[in-house]
Amino acid sequence: LVGDRLVVRKDGNAKTSQDIKAEIKNFADLPLSQTTAKGLEASHFKSLTDIQLKAVPRALKGRDILGAAKTGSGKTLSFLIPVLENLYRQKWTELDGLGALIISPTRELAIQIFEVLRKIGRYHTFSAGLVIGGRSLQEERERLGRMNILVCTPGRMLQHMDQTAAFEVDNLQMLVLDEADRIMDMGFQMSVDAIIEHLPKQRQTMLFSATQTKKVSDLARLSLRDPEYVAVDEGA
Ligand code: ADP
Ligand code: MG
Repeated sequence: LVGDRLVVRKDGNAKTSQDIKAEIKNFADLPLSQTTAKGLEASHFKSLTDIQLKAVPRALKGRDILGAAKTGSGKTLSFLIPVLENLYRQKWTELDGLGALIISPTRELAIQIFEVLRKIGRYHTFSAGLVIGGRSLQEERERLGRMNILVCTPGRMLQHMDQTAAFEVDNLQMLVLDEADRIMDMGFQMSVDAIIEHLPKQRQTMLFSATQTKKVSDLARLSLRDPEYVAVDEGA
């Protein structure tokens, strides 16, 4: 058996990881904390979409993820669930500082991600914030140091990393690059490269994109370590 893993069940029958994946259908079938499970239920999320089925179990095992799936396929939960679970498992508190950074190409998309995070993360005690500009740098700066999870746009984030002396990213566990194709198309390559330069190398990274372009694969090479490539076929 090549390229698959054999697992021996208690009843003695061997089955492959492929079989196990086929048994996951609902969020309740995943090894999630009660806190996340309750948040998903309260938000009326019950079964996983295709990209979530492929990305979430692998991300929960700590793998870097390179995900491709078209708009509307459910990429947001594919990274928000692993973010919450990763920090929860590490018993992350306010004192631990920034644990996860989510980069989005536009303010509007960042706000959407933040709203979903607020919904499914409602029973967690993590602090979360938006760094998208629109208010004074000083106002954002004061709140930054207390945040465990930040959703940001590249330009504004880099501004803080360069100018906010007390802003610590040394503890960061997870980086998410959402809509990586648009991040690159909008000319944020240098900003994102510079942000990544500031971050610890030892971390989990998830990169999602609607399309796979040369620029996206360049960014993936720079930011991911031995990633699992997960894609949902067109028309699936
Ligand atoms: P993408 O980022 O791939 O464009 P989104 O994460 O924004 O997709 O999700 C698209 C829509 O699908 C949203 O309205 C979201 O609430 C819904 N959705 C995502 N995952 C699920 C799910 N597991 N069950 C039901 N609806 C879902
Ligand atoms: Mg999206």
